[in-house]
Amino acid sequence: MSDATSKPLEPTSLTDDDPATGHPRPPRREFKARGSFVTRCQGCNLPELNCLCPYQVKADSTAQVWLLTHPIEHFKPTNTGRLIGDVLTQTNVFTWYRTAPDKALVALLEDPRYAPFVIFPDDQPDYADRVVDIHAVHAVKQHGRIPVFVILDGTWRQARRMFRKSPYLDALPVLPLRTERETRYRLRKPASKAHLCTAEVAIELLRQSGDENAADVLDDYFDVFNDSYAESRYYRKIVEPTAAMQRLLDRKG
Ligand SMILES: [Zn+2]
Repeated sequence: MSDATSKPLEPTSLTDDDPATGHPRPPRREFKARGSFVTRCQGCNLPELNCLCPYQVKADSTAQVWLLTHPIEHFKPTNTGRLIGDVLTQTNVFTWYRTAPDKALVALLEDPRYAPFVIFPDDQPDYADRVVDIHAVHAVKQHGRIPVFVILDGTWRQARRMFRKSPYLDALPVLPLRTERETRYRLRKPASKAHLCTAEVAIELLRQSGDENAADVLDDYFDVFNDSYAESRYYRKIVEPTAAMQRLLDRKG
Protein backbone atom coordinates (compact mmCIF):
# COMPACT_ATOMS: atom_id res chain seq x y z
CA MET A 1 0.00 0.00 0.00
CA SER A 2 1.22 3.47 -0.74
CA ASP A 3 -0.26 6.91 -0.20
CA ALA A 4 0.82 10.51 -0.17
CA THR A 5 1.31 10.55 3.60
CA SER A 6 3.84 7.72 3.65
CA LYS A 7 7.28 8.51 4.92
CA PRO A 8 9.88 9.52 2.37
CA LEU A 9 12.20 6.70 1.48
CA GLU A 10 15.40 6.42 3.36
CA PRO A 11 18.28 7.68 1.27
CA THR A 12 20.18 4.80 -0.25
CA SER A 13 22.98 3.80 2.01
CA LEU A 14 26.42 4.21 0.55
CA THR A 15 28.09 2.11 3.20
CA ASP A 16 29.27 -1.40 2.53
CA ASP A 17 26.48 -3.44 4.13
CA ASP A 18 26.97 -6.95 5.39
CA PRO A 19 24.71 -9.09 3.17
CA ALA A 20 23.92 -11.31 6.13
CA THR A 21 22.66 -8.66 8.54
CA GLY A 22 22.03 -5.58 6.41
CA HIS A 23 24.13 -3.66 8.91
CA PRO A 24 27.05 -1.56 7.80
CA ARG A 25 30.31 -3.42 7.95
CA PRO A 26 33.24 -2.08 9.87
CA PRO A 27 35.89 -0.67 7.53
CA ARG A 28 37.91 -3.46 6.02
CA ARG A 29 41.42 -3.95 7.12
CA GLU A 30 43.86 -5.91 5.09
CA PHE A 31 44.83 -9.19 6.67
CA LYS A 32 48.47 -8.98 7.66
CA ALA A 33 50.05 -12.38 7.41
CA ARG A 34 53.65 -13.16 8.14
CA GLY A 35 55.65 -12.22 5.07
CA SER A 36 52.98 -9.84 3.81
CA PHE A 37 55.73 -7.46 2.71
CA VAL A 38 56.94 -9.79 -0.03
CA THR A 39 55.93 -9.36 -3.68
CA ARG A 40 53.23 -11.83 -4.55
CA CYS A 41 52.34 -13.29 -7.94
CA GLN A 42 48.98 -11.98 -9.20
CA GLY A 43 48.10 -15.42 -10.50
CA CYS A 44 48.68 -17.69 -7.50
CA ASN A 45 49.21 -15.22 -4.63
CA LEU A 46 52.44 -16.94 -3.64
CA PRO A 47 55.69 -15.02 -3.24
CA GLU A 48 57.09 -14.52 -6.74
CA LEU A 49 60.30 -16.25 -5.72
CA ASN A 50 58.61 -19.67 -6.00
CA CYS A 51 55.46 -19.08 -8.02
CA LEU A 52 52.92 -21.88 -8.31
CA CYS A 53 51.51 -21.00 -11.73
CA PRO A 54 53.75 -23.28 -13.88
CA TYR A 55 52.41 -26.29 -11.95
CA GLN A 56 48.69 -25.68 -12.32
CA VAL A 57 47.12 -28.75 -13.92
CA LYS A 58 43.37 -29.31 -14.22
CA ALA A 59 41.84 -32.69 -13.41
CA ASP A 60 38.35 -34.08 -13.90
CA SER A 61 36.55 -35.80 -11.08
CA THR A 62 33.17 -37.45 -10.61
CA ALA A 63 32.76 -36.07 -7.10
CA GLN A 64 32.73 -32.34 -6.49
CA VAL A 65 33.97 -30.21 -3.63
CA TRP A 66 31.95 -27.28 -2.33
CA LEU A 67 33.85 -25.21 0.19
CA LEU A 68 32.07 -23.28 2.86
CA THR A 69 34.82 -20.90 3.83
CA HIS A 70 35.02 -18.85 6.99
CA PRO A 71 35.37 -15.14 6.06
CA ILE A 72 38.71 -14.82 7.87
CA GLU A 73 40.14 -17.77 5.98
CA HIS A 74 39.67 -16.08 2.58
CA PHE A 75 42.39 -13.56 3.40
CA LYS A 76 45.02 -16.01 4.58
CA PRO A 77 47.62 -16.77 1.93
CA THR A 78 48.35 -20.06 3.71
CA ASN A 79 44.78 -21.27 3.07
CA THR A 80 44.81 -24.57 1.17
CA GLY A 81 41.11 -24.67 0.28
CA ARG A 82 41.77 -22.53 -2.80
CA LEU A 83 44.16 -25.16 -4.18
CA ILE A 84 41.16 -27.45 -4.74
CA GLY A 85 39.54 -25.00 -7.14
CA ASP A 86 42.83 -24.58 -9.01
CA VAL A 87 42.83 -28.29 -9.86
CA LEU A 88 39.24 -29.60 -9.93
CA THR A 89 37.26 -28.14 -12.81
CA GLN A 90 33.97 -28.16 -10.84
CA THR A 91 34.46 -26.52 -7.47
CA ASN A 92 32.22 -24.08 -5.67
CA VAL A 93 33.37 -21.71 -2.96
CA PHE A 94 30.87 -20.05 -0.62
CA THR A 95 31.51 -17.66 2.22
CA TRP A 96 29.98 -18.63 5.52
CA TYR A 97 27.94 -16.05 7.41
CA ARG A 98 26.52 -16.86 10.80
CA THR A 99 23.20 -15.10 10.24
CA ALA A 100 22.24 -15.91 6.67
CA PRO A 101 23.07 -18.72 4.25
CA ASP A 102 24.42 -18.11 0.79
CA LYS A 103 21.34 -18.33 -1.47
CA ALA A 104 23.27 -20.02 -4.26
CA LEU A 105 24.44 -22.72 -1.86
CA VAL A 106 20.92 -23.34 -0.54
CA ALA A 107 19.63 -23.69 -4.12
CA LEU A 108 22.38 -26.16 -4.99
CA LEU A 109 21.72 -28.20 -1.86
CA GLU A 110 18.15 -28.68 -3.08
CA ASP A 111 19.17 -29.65 -6.62
CA PRO A 112 18.42 -33.40 -6.99
CA ARG A 113 21.38 -33.98 -9.34
CA TYR A 114 23.70 -33.61 -6.38
CA ALA A 115 24.15 -35.78 -3.30
CA PRO A 116 25.90 -33.55 -0.77
CA PHE A 117 27.72 -34.85 2.28
CA VAL A 118 28.95 -32.55 5.01
CA ILE A 119 32.45 -33.59 6.04
CA PHE A 120 32.73 -33.59 9.80
CA PRO A 121 33.98 -35.83 12.64
CA ASP A 122 31.46 -38.19 14.24
CA ASP A 123 32.61 -37.51 17.80
CA GLN A 124 29.33 -36.14 19.20
CA PRO A 125 26.25 -38.29 19.89
CA ASP A 126 23.52 -35.80 18.97
CA TYR A 127 23.86 -36.29 15.19
CA ALA A 128 24.87 -39.97 15.23
CA ASP A 129 21.80 -40.87 13.14
CA ARG A 130 23.16 -38.79 10.24
CA VAL A 131 26.62 -40.36 10.11
CA VAL A 132 27.49 -42.39 7.00
CA ASP A 133 30.72 -43.86 5.62
CA ILE A 134 32.43 -43.81 2.21
CA HIS A 135 30.18 -46.60 0.92
CA ALA A 136 27.33 -44.09 0.86
CA VAL A 137 29.35 -42.05 -1.65
CA HIS A 138 29.86 -45.07 -3.91
CA ALA A 139 26.12 -45.83 -3.61
CA VAL A 140 24.98 -42.39 -4.82
CA LYS A 141 27.42 -42.65 -7.76
CA GLN A 142 25.79 -45.93 -8.78
CA HIS A 143 22.44 -44.17 -8.79
CA GLY A 144 23.79 -41.58 -11.21
CA ARG A 145 23.97 -38.70 -8.78
CA ILE A 146 26.99 -36.47 -8.28
CA PRO A 147 28.53 -36.84 -4.83
CA VAL A 148 29.51 -33.55 -3.26
CA PHE A 149 31.88 -33.09 -0.36
CA VAL A 150 30.83 -30.00 1.57
CA ILE A 151 34.01 -29.06 3.43
CA LEU A 152 33.96 -26.48 6.21
CA ASP A 153 37.08 -24.44 5.49
CA GLY A 154 38.41 -22.80 8.63
CA THR A 155 40.19 -23.65 11.85
CA TRP A 156 38.78 -26.58 13.80
CA ARG A 157 37.09 -24.15 16.13
CA GLN A 158 35.55 -22.21 13.25
CA ALA A 159 34.46 -25.43 11.54
CA ARG A 160 32.63 -26.58 14.66
CA ARG A 161 30.83 -23.30 14.86
CA MET A 162 29.91 -23.45 11.18
CA PHE A 163 28.59 -26.99 11.60
CA ARG A 164 26.47 -26.03 14.60
CA LYS A 165 25.18 -22.69 13.35
CA SER A 166 24.12 -23.59 9.81
CA PRO A 167 20.56 -24.98 9.85
CA TYR A 168 20.67 -25.58 6.08
CA LEU A 169 23.28 -28.28 6.71
CA ASP A 170 21.15 -30.07 9.31
CA ALA A 171 19.48 -32.40 6.81
CA LEU A 172 22.70 -33.57 5.16
CA PRO A 173 24.39 -36.87 5.90
CA VAL A 174 27.59 -36.42 7.90
CA LEU A 175 30.67 -38.09 6.43
CA PRO A 176 33.67 -38.29 8.75
CA LEU A 177 37.00 -38.75 7.00
CA ARG A 178 38.67 -41.98 8.06
CA THR A 179 42.33 -42.10 7.11
CA GLU A 180 45.74 -43.09 8.37
CA ARG A 181 47.27 -40.11 6.62
CA GLU A 182 49.27 -37.72 8.75
CA THR A 183 49.37 -34.10 7.71
CA ARG A 184 52.24 -32.88 5.54
CA TYR A 185 51.13 -29.26 5.82
CA ARG A 186 54.14 -27.18 6.87
CA LEU A 187 52.73 -23.65 7.01
CA ARG A 188 50.76 -23.77 10.24
CA LYS A 189 51.40 -25.81 13.35
CA PRO A 190 48.73 -28.53 13.67
CA ALA A 191 47.44 -29.48 17.11
CA SER A 192 47.90 -33.08 16.01
CA LYS A 193 49.42 -34.91 13.04
CA ALA A 194 45.98 -36.41 12.46
CA HIS A 195 44.50 -32.98 11.77
CA LEU A 196 44.63 -32.64 8.01
CA CYS A 197 44.39 -29.29 6.27
CA THR A 198 41.51 -28.58 3.87
CA ALA A 199 43.28 -29.66 0.68
CA GLU A 200 44.43 -32.91 2.31
CA VAL A 201 40.86 -33.69 3.41
CA ALA A 202 39.70 -33.28 -0.20
CA ILE A 203 42.59 -35.42 -1.51
CA GLU A 204 41.74 -38.34 0.78
CA LEU A 205 38.01 -38.14 0.05
CA LEU A 206 38.64 -38.13 -3.70
CA ARG A 207 41.00 -41.08 -3.40
CA GLN A 208 38.62 -43.14 -1.27
CA SER A 209 35.64 -42.44 -3.52
CA GLY A 210 37.33 -43.47 -6.77
CA ASP A 211 38.73 -40.22 -8.19
CA GLU A 212 42.34 -41.40 -7.86
CA ASN A 213 43.70 -39.34 -10.75
CA ALA A 214 42.27 -36.07 -9.44
CA ALA A 215 43.53 -37.00 -5.97
CA ASP A 216 47.07 -37.58 -7.29
CA VAL A 217 47.16 -34.26 -9.16
CA LEU A 218 45.84 -32.34 -6.17
CA ASP A 219 48.27 -34.12 -3.85
CA ASP A 220 51.23 -33.13 -6.04
CA TYR A 221 49.93 -29.58 -6.36
CA PHE A 222 49.51 -29.40 -2.58
CA ASP A 223 53.12 -30.58 -2.09
CA VAL A 224 54.37 -27.95 -4.53
CA PHE A 225 52.39 -25.25 -2.72
CA ASN A 226 53.70 -26.44 0.63
CA ASP A 227 57.35 -26.57 -0.46
CA SER A 228 57.24 -23.35 -2.47
CA TYR A 229 55.65 -21.38 0.33
CA ALA A 230 57.89 -22.80 3.05
CA GLU A 231 61.09 -22.13 1.09
CA SER A 232 59.97 -18.58 0.27
CA ARG A 233 59.75 -17.86 3.97
CA TYR A 234 63.52 -18.32 4.05
CA TYR A 235 63.98 -16.45 0.75
CA ARG A 236 65.22 -19.64 -0.84
CA LYS A 237 64.45 -20.29 -4.48
CA ILE A 238 63.69 -23.87 -5.52
CA VAL A 239 66.03 -24.35 -8.49
CA GLU A 240 65.75 -28.07 -9.22
CA PRO A 241 62.11 -29.18 -9.62
CA THR A 242 60.95 -31.51 -6.85
CA ALA A 243 59.47 -34.91 -7.77
CA ALA A 244 55.94 -33.51 -7.43
CA MET A 245 56.85 -30.51 -9.61
CA GLN A 246 58.28 -32.79 -12.29
CA ARG A 247 55.17 -35.00 -12.34
CA LEU A 248 52.93 -31.97 -12.82
CA LEU A 249 55.17 -30.57 -15.58
CA ASP A 250 55.07 -33.97 -17.31
CA ARG A 251 51.26 -33.98 -17.20
CA LYS A 252 51.19 -30.60 -18.90
CA GLY A 253 53.31 -32.14 -21.67
ZN1 LIG B 1 52.01 -17.53 -9.72
